[in-house]
Amino acid sequence: MTKWVYSFGKGLNEGRADMRNLLGGKGANLAEMAANGLPVPPGFTITTEVCSAFYENGRKYPDALQAQVAEALHRVEQSMGLRFGDADAPLLVSVRSGARVSMPGMMDTVLNLGLNDETVEGLARSSGDARFAWDSYRRFIQMYGSVVMGVPHHHFEDTLEQFKRANRVEDDTAITADQWRAIVVDYRHIISTHAGSEFPTNPHDQLWGAIGAVFGSWMNPRANTYRKLHEIPASWGTAVNVQSMVFGNMGDDCATGVCFTRDPSTGENIFYGEYLINAQGEDVVASIRTPQPMACARAEAGQHPMETTLPEAYAELLRVRSVLETHYKDMQDIEFTVQRNVLYILQTRNGKRTAAAALKIAIDMAREGLITQEEAIQRVPAASLDQLLHPTLDPKAERVQLTRGLPASPGAAAGAVVFTAEECEARAAKGEDVILVRIETSPEDVHGMHAARGVLTTRGGMTSHAAVVARGMGRVCVAGAGSIHVDYAAGTMTVGTHTVAQGEWITLDGGTGAVYLGRVPTIEPALSDDFNTLMGWADAVRRLGVRANAETPDDARTARRFGAEGIGLARTEHMFFGPDRIGFVRQMIIADDESVRQKAIAALLPFQRDDFASLFRIMAGLPVTVRLLDPPLHEFLPHAEAEMAEVANALGKSVDDVRARCAALAETNPMLGHRGCRLGLTSPEIYAMQVRALIQAAVMVEKELGKPIRPEIMIPLVATQAELATTRRAAEDEIARVLKEEGTNLNYYIGTMIELPRAALQADRIAEYADFFSFGTNDLTQTTFGLSRDDAGSFLPYYVDHGLLPRDPFVSIDRDGAGALVRLGVERGRQTCPDLKLGICGEHGGDPDSIAFFDEVGLDYVSCSPFRVPVARLAAAQAALATRQKAGQTA
Ligand code: PEP
Ligand code: MG
Repeated sequence: MTKWVYSFGKGLNEGRADMRNLLGGKGANLAEMAANGLPVPPGFTITTEVCSAFYENGRKYPDALQAQVAEALHRVEQSMGLRFGDADAPLLVSVRSGARVSMPGMMDTVLNLGLNDETVEGLARSSGDARFAWDSYRRFIQMYGSVVMGVPHHHFEDTLEQFKRANRVEDDTAITADQWRAIVVDYRHIISTHAGSEFPTNPHDQLWGAIGAVFGSWMNPRANTYRKLHEIPASWGTAVNVQSMVFGNMGDDCATGVCFTRDPSTGENIFYGEYLINAQGEDVVASIRTPQPMACARAEAGQHPMETTLPEAYAELLRVRSVLETHYKDMQDIEFTVQRNVLYILQTRNGKRTAAAALKIAIDMAREGLITQEEAIQRVPAASLDQLLHPTLDPKAERVQLTRGLPASPGAAAGAVVFTAEECEARAAKGEDVILVRIETSPEDVHGMHAARGVLTTRGGMTSHAAVVARGMGRVCVAGAGSIHVDYAAGTMTVGTHTVAQGEWITLDGGTGAVYLGRVPTIEPALSDDFNTLMGWADAVRRLGVRANAETPDDARTARRFGAEGIGLARTEHMFFGPDRIGFVRQMIIADDESVRQKAIAALLPFQRDDFASLFRIMAGLPVTVRLLDPPLHEFLPHAEAEMAEVANALGKSVDDVRARCAALAETNPMLGHRGCRLGLTSPEIYAMQVRALIQAAVMVEKELGKPIRPEIMIPLVATQAELATTRRAAEDEIARVLKEEGTNLNYYIGTMIELPRAALQADRIAEYADFFSFGTNDLTQTTFGLSRDDAGSFLPYYVDHGLLPRDPFVSIDRDGAGALVRLGVERGRQTCPDLKLGICGEHGGDPDSIAFFDEVGLDYVSCSPFRVPVARLAAAQAALATRQKAGQTA
């Protein structure tokens, strides 16, 4: 016969920690603790399989369940020397849900179950405290009424408040037994009015009502949404834990509390927590009274630490702390109750912690020999390193939220609002902190973004220009905050009725996407030795290389400081906007006289050569991948009248001619237009100049450093073999000319981005002309989904909120779509060329989940923005360990 119920506590322990799938996290841990001799009040767990069977059979329980529950309940009665529903010595129980993973949105807890008008008198007699008994009874009615019978909580609260006011009582503890008795009558009346049925007085009905509420809550809308978002299958089901009550509210030798085996905010190895004398669990959470510290060392004047008020129970708790940490090999979050000086443990679980604490605890525990280095690597969520590398908002600071956008680049920054890159630069030069607010940004704004503390846009997604560039620079960015209306002419931004004018302060939280009014104080990050230690351990196990996307010397230096092993993507277009070059770029585009055009191109060459040379110097022999010009030419065109006049003047043309040329270059769909290698093919002089500058720089720096420099030339937006073959041939011809002029030789690689579905499908043919592939997953996601990366911000959040997509595909690779094309590209590319070097340089290169996927499909390296290099190093190590573990399991 199927076993549906597992007992725990006082001798009979039928479960273990590794039975989490069957018993849920809470049930498995209770059984494990009891089996290890810890003082756990006895009880039983109804398995998750009952939940599944319940739903499969049209909300009916399995036949044998009733009998098994009765038998387990009887065992609890025996070990407690009490009886469920007995008027003299009543057993009271708690009922809690407990899925495999903790899941907000489900029914949580009902305490004191088993009380009615008779048993309450028995409890009053056996405890010798009528006030306590009637208080417990009203708490039970209140909890059962709201959690099981769905009566809104405030009805009970309002009644209690009115009672206290009418009777001039301030504190709950001053309410007498008779007064609680009167409140109980009111509470039962509330239930019959609002629930449409009477409060059940039979304890067995109460028990089955609570069990039914737990199973029912597994399918409530909140739980369903949570499961969908976290990819938790509905088939997992929840368990139900029924446990005998112990009381922390029976007098001054009783208490209840929550403690952590180490400090969850700093990770320090000190005992941390809070407790309340003469209280029940929810009092600690509800902050009705101020909880007190555990240890004397943590107590301030006037506080009453548990170490002095309940020394025996405290000493026992210290022993439990050490037993649990040694047993679970992780920081534990423990709920406990002291009843008449005797300690009981009600729950233990791995404690939630800040990123800094996760790091410290992992390193300390590895050093203490509690866990291995590999386990330490897996203990620190890779994405959480962001919190350690950027300023964060002071959690204690007051704040008023104005609106919210996409969390496009992490960190927190406050500054005066400005609306143009020029104003931004001018104010920053005077030492002012500024936030650049734009509807969207373009390459022209890059200098302003650099000068700003943070960037806020009202349009655009997670791979929009603002997001990508800000991330690369380590600037805070909130993108696509669509509720903001920007009025450039008036110099204001408005949300609803609230208007912020230029010069007024706002604060951005790039980790959450929140925009706050005024200046919210921030905390600067401080990198600890532990950070470097963890990075060292991660580097020793990862297989994937980690490079950075960087094109400025500053970014390249940051990348190296964070441990990048080269540059995987230098976007050369970002080099075209310097004030000393943009004029020549515009002349190059607009000139129709070939000699004038050649002169403009020639003028750009030394700038490019210097740019490349500094990257080679900083990278000192590490690989540097330079991507030839990608965006459509219209992005560089003049907009303002003065800019048009300047170009017209330089070219000896009229402003109208210039304007006409600009209009002719405009495209309806520039992202799918004349860009990437299409531009290189129709205007070959531009790529020729870039290749020349690159090879000259490499030859120069190779001589300077006395080390081989291996430039990697990357050709963007290739869809066909012919495109790559032609562009490659032209590049090789130019390289041959330069090397001949220089009288030297140089090893170089020419490769391509795979960022269009056709390129992935044709990867075997394209590989015939490529020394390497780098997957451009930004464009690949855009073109696979047919989803504009610059416009997605207005509707993608809706998709994610409503479960239409599990995550933003521009953030985490869509394994089934764009990811499948990456996998295919890898397979087909390597069919042609088994040792083809494969990388990825889209924004997904810094996302831990995507990195796990790239490890799985066998890429050689990922390339991401400099500030994400540590995240990628750790994620790559975690991916390698997961692969090893999987291989070990199947071996
Ligand atoms: C990409 O498309 O993934 C890529 C890296 O190129 P960009 O973002 O510059 O288009
Ligand atoms: Mg691209």
